[in-house]
Amino acid sequence: MVAGATRWRDLQAGPTPSQGQLAITNRKIRFIAQQHGGEIPLSKVQRASYLDRTTVLIESTARSLSGRFSVPDAEYTSILVDTALRIDRRILLPDNGDRPSRHIPAHVKSAVYRRDRGACVECGANSYLEYDHIIPFSRGGASTEGNVQLLCRACNLAKGARV
Ligand SMILES: [Zn+2]
Repeated sequence: MVAGATRWRDLQAGPTPSQGQLAITNRKIRFIAQQHGGEIPLSKVQRASYLDRTTVLIESTARSLSGRFSVPDAEYTSILVDTALRIDRRILLPDNGDRPSRHIPAHVKSAVYRRDRGACVECGANSYLEYDHIIPFSRGGASTEGNVQLLCRACNLAKGARV
């Protein structure tokens, strides 16, 4: 996205505008201007928020381009920046990312193991342990700490026969 923009720099004399264009790509944010232009890689951008309909605030760890910009549609601009950041941080995975999975993540397993004290919750056995979905995955049970328990192989098989 490229949009005409005004960058506001807070100087001692007060907020001072620079006219230019704001460009958001999948790698960086650039302010293209005769004076006081610059660019920041997305990895250094912390967030963008819209202060009002035409003002977006870009915060970054590099001081160079942090600050307020006047743009035609601040909400749209801040959403674009936010989306670019999420993709850059791999928060939005390109595929399957948000779909529920039968796979139990390692951090869930370690939390369940600690909570259940390394023993089958049915009989207390501490060998042949398996991670069991309390509500089966096939019935919509999630792979979360609240829906996973430790069962020994024998109890898991017995449960399988019941369910
Ligand atoms: Zn058991």
